[in-house]
Amino acid sequence: MLEGFFDLHTHTTASDGTLSPEQLIRCCLEAGLSGVGITDHDTMAAIPEAIQLAASSGLTVVPGIEISTEQHGKEIHILGYYCSPNSPSLNQMMSEVRDARKSRMELIVANLRNAGVDITLEQLVFHIGNEAVGRPHIARALVAMGAAESVQDAFDRYLVRGKPGYVPRYKLDPIVAVKQILAAGGVPVLAHPGLIGDDSVIEALIVAGLKGIEVWYPQHTNEQVEHYAEMADSLGLIPTGGSDFHGSGE
Ligand code: AMP
Ligand code: ZN
Ligand code: FE
Ligand code: FE
Repeated sequence: MLEGFFDLHTHTTASDGTLSPEQLIRCCLEAGLSGVGITDHDTMAAIPEAIQLAASSGLTVVPGIEISTEQHGKEIHILGYYCSPNSPSLNQMMSEVRDARKSRMELIVANLRNAGVDITLEQLVFHIGNEAVGRPHIARALVAMGAAESVQDAFDRYLVRGKPGYVPRYKLDPIVAVKQILAAGGVPVLAHPGLIGDDSVIEALIVAGLKGIEVWYPQHTNEQVEHYAEMADSLGLIPTGGSDFHGSGE
C-alpha cells in the first residue's frame, strides 16, 4: 500500500522535460512528495536510473509512460503505469514512434527554414531529449536563438496547428495504446481528459480495458475535476492526479 502525496505525471530529459531523473527526484524530495510517477512520452528510459537513485531517499518511483494517440482529429494521451520494461510489442511500438518523432523533427526544421527561420539540426542537438524528441525541444532552441521570447511564444508563433512548424505526429489509435499497456502488464489511465474536450471517446477506452482517469490536473477547472471525479466513481475508474511537470523555466 502506497501512502502520501504522489505526483503521477512528470517528464524528464528522456523525453521533453528539462530535468534529468536525478534532478527530478531531488525536486520531488524538496517538494515533500512521497512518490513520483515518471511518465515520459513514448519511452521508459528514465525509469531504471530513477528507481535506483530514489531507493535510498524514501521517495517511491512509480514507473510510467505517456503515449500520444489520436482519434477523430482529437489528441488523446494514455498514461501507462507499471508496464513491463521487457514487453516486445510495447517496446517495438514505442521504438517506431520515437523514430517517427526524429523524422518529424527534421521535417519541422525544414519547414521552419522554408518559412525564413534560420534554425539548423545542429542547433537542436543541445536541446533534444535522450530518447523521444518533441516540439518543446524545438521551442527551447527557438528561444535560445532569439526567434521567440518564450517557449509558449515559440509554440504560438511556430509550432501549433496552422503555423509553419506544425507537423502532425505518427498516428496511433488510443485503443491500441490501451491494449498494448495491458499486454505489458500495465495500468492504462486516460491523461488530462479535460483537454480533449469530448468525453465520447471514454466509453470505447473502458471497453478496451482503461483502468483509470486523470482527475486532478493543473489545467482542469474545478468543474472538470468534479465532473471527472464523479465519472471515475460511477464507472469504477481509478482517479489519479498529476502535474505534467516538464521542469523549470516553462
Ligand atoms: P509533441 O509530443 O512533440 O507534439 O509535443 C507535445 C508537448 O508539447 C506536450 O507534452 C506539451 O509539453 C507541449 N505542448 C503542446 N502544445 C502546447 C502549446 N500549445 N503550448 C505550449 N506547450 C505545448
Ligand atoms: Zn511533453
Ligand atoms: Fe499529455
Ligand atoms: Fe505529459
